Amino acid sequence: MREDTYRHKGMRVRLAERIEEAGIKDERVLHAIMTVPRHFFFFDEVFVKTAYQNRAFPIGEGQTISQPYTVAYQTEMLQIEVGDKVLEIGTGSGYQAAVLATLGAKIYSIERNQKLHLKAKKLLQELHYDEIIPIFGDGYEGAPAFAPFDKVIVTAAAPEIPTKLIEQLRVGGLMVVPVGEKGQIMLKITKISDTEYTVEEKGKFRFVPMLKGTK
Ligand code: SAH
Repeated sequence: MREDTYRHKGMRVRLAERIEEAGIKDERVLHAIMTVPRHFFFFDEVFVKTAYQNRAFPIGEGQTISQPYTVAYQTEMLQIEVGDKVLEIGTGSGYQAAVLATLGAKIYSIERNQKLHLKAKKLLQELHYDEIIPIFGDGYEGAPAFAPFDKVIVTAAAPEIPTKLIEQLRVGGLMVVPVGEKGQIMLKITKISDTEYTVEEKGKFRFVPMLKGTK
């Protein structure tokens, strides 16, 4: 586990408290929120206070770093175990990937926007998140070279269930994906055999769209 040596620990603890009040129970997830220095993940200068508010924020290229509560919610749903191999669609700032890495997962994270991919890759290297592998590409294709995955997390709104990604899950694996055009329902998908999966509907969220191709 990475040592929590970064500044502004007090603000992270308060952020974790707010997220707990909002309904997140998993202590390991709350600990990860207290650990990952979110103020580095904005790429540009940002007020530290802003970084530790429970809200989404622009990171350039028309994209956002997700709201911390949403990051915690998806992370809790994934039930990460140490050593899990996780596929993330939508690296964005890299913050969600860093939270997953703090829980002991190895993450393959795909971003379609090359500028964001390069920025996140540089930041994650500087912060020594060696267990995160940023990939430039179209998340709809997944990362078949590294499949199968224990877990898949989609952090952009998919218009429908991205079935190609289910193919890249191991049997017994989980996918967490917000699905819908205007406003999304978070779905928890469990792969129960090579050809079958179950779908559970969770809370309502709002994500930037999952787009086709690279940019
Ligand atoms: N997980 C991010 C949140 C990112 S917002 C974080 O923690 O900051 C969603 C991201 O998904 C954006 O960066 C967007 O460019 C990216 N995206 C959208 N469609 C995609 C696709 N098909 N493949 C990969 N990335 C995609």
